[in-house]
Amino acid sequence: MSKPVRLPEPVTTTWEWQMHGLCRGMDSAVFFHPEGERGHKRAAREEQAKRVCAQCPVLQRCREYAVTAGEPYGVWGGMSAPERMVAESVTERMLAESIQDNRAIG
Ligand code: SF4
Repeated sequence: MSKPVRLPEPVTTTWEWQMHGLCRGMDSAVFFHPEGERGHKRAAREEQAKRVCAQCPVLQRCREYAVTAGEPYGVWGGMSAPERMVAESVTERMLAESIQDNRAIG
């Protein structure tokens, strides 16, 4: 008897949320820093991107994707790359603690 196979979600379902992003069609330079950008200029550009994200109907889905996928660059879901790294490490720590708690319980 063969084992049941779990097929991947259809690609259109997985990525459909991107069709509703407010950044769709915008200049990607608002969301991704150019080479060598630092300091106040970078902070100002990221704030501009975050203002767009704050109005976006798929913000939560975008953020979940970017944190889970470990997107290394740009503003996604209203978060910069360093902010997502912190969120990812907190999530991983909480998951590890939850697994330890469940093992302790039985
Ligand atoms: S949350 Fe921001 S980066 Fe994500 S789809 Fe919306 S506008 Fe684009």
